[in-house]
Amino acid sequence: MEDNKDIWVFAEQRNGKIMNVAYEILGAARRLADKKGCKVYAALLGDGVERLSDSLIQHGADKVCIVDNPLLKNYTTSAYTDAIEAVIKNFKPEIFLYGATTIGRDLAPRVASRVHTGLTADCTGLDIDEDGLLLQIRPAFGGNLMATIKCPEKRPQMATVRPGVMEKLPADLARKGDVIRYNVDLDEKNIRTKILNIVREAKHTVNLEEAKIIVSGGRGLKEPEGFKLIEELANLLGGVVGASRAAVDSGWISSDHQVGQTGKTVRPELYIACGISGAIQHLAGMSGSRTIVAINKDPNAPIFKVADYGIVGDLYKVIPILIDEIKNAKD
Ligand code: FAD
Repeated sequence: MEDNKDIWVFAEQRNGKIMNVAYEILGAARRLADKKGCKVYAALLGDGVERLSDSLIQHGADKVCIVDNPLLKNYTTSAYTDAIEAVIKNFKPEIFLYGATTIGRDLAPRVASRVHTGLTADCTGLDIDEDGLLLQIRPAFGGNLMATIKCPEKRPQMATVRPGVMEKLPADLARKGDVIRYNVDLDEKNIRTKILNIVREAKHTVNLEEAKIIVSGGRGLKEPEGFKLIEELANLLGGVVGASRAAVDSGWISSDHQVGQTGKTVRPELYIACGISGAIQHLAGMSGSRTIVAINKDPNAPIFKVADYGIVGDLYKVIPILIDEIKNAKD
């Protein structure tokens, strides 16, 4: 175990674009590495992806290990597992972090099993203890407690990290790092799935985690039509629509809009909560927003405790005024 050093991040890319969560984990890895006094590596897998390495360095990586292979163009469980296994066996990381995306959630457990180590899924916090071990923090028992998990006996210590929770570092264009090209022999015969075609889902999907502005509606809307007003405000601001679980459970809006402990964790520049009381499970998903505006008719609503700006009033009166003012300002 003494041979295992440094913190590695799986730099997930799709279609030649790094996923935001990879930058967020790089930001966290940088903080942890500075505390431990070690280096941050990004593992970049794909086909013709070398041009992405600069951006990984600018966001906190000291070194980028590129495994470039036509068989890694699109994600398949076996090819990516074989490649990461080879990287781990060769470079011996102490810590290996993945985004808790559909790919990260598929890949990390396979790798954990191959290299005989543990894995903590869906972490919302990471730290280093006094012995230099990774503290992997995640909600447990339906969010009723936060569990801190350690992996003292196996290496690498591995975790998947929830998108939207960690803070991405601003790009430092002057930052320099090394690029390592590492060749892994992959055999097409061992890849048991074949990608015949990739079909983009026609459904309009909300990308709450990457949104800069979110306007969310809660039970205070009273009826599903209330989301038309929320959507109008969101569109006007160039943002997207979020929701509390109460609104989702009422069937007013689909669950991919839900913000909170059992929904998405978001970190926009601006979060406008309309008719949302501010239950702890909702706050868990949005309190990292840069500026929070709350509109609620109850002056004692807990949402006002986290809000930077609070408007006490009926949202059906306040939002139309806001919409008019924004339109006037744009004209
Ligand atoms: P309410 O708490 O009912 O609040 C409605 C608010 O609207 C009130 O403050 C009221 O004053 C205001 N209001 C009413 N009319 C108006 C009006 N005309 N104008 C302005 N304001 C008005 N919740 C989440 O949101 N996300 C989660 O991921 C989540 N996960 C959960 C996980 C677990 C394990 C549990 C137990 C609960 C979870 N919840 C979650 C539910 C959470 O506890 C709350 O029940 C929920 O957030 C309440 O939603 P709300 O604020 O929309 O509704």
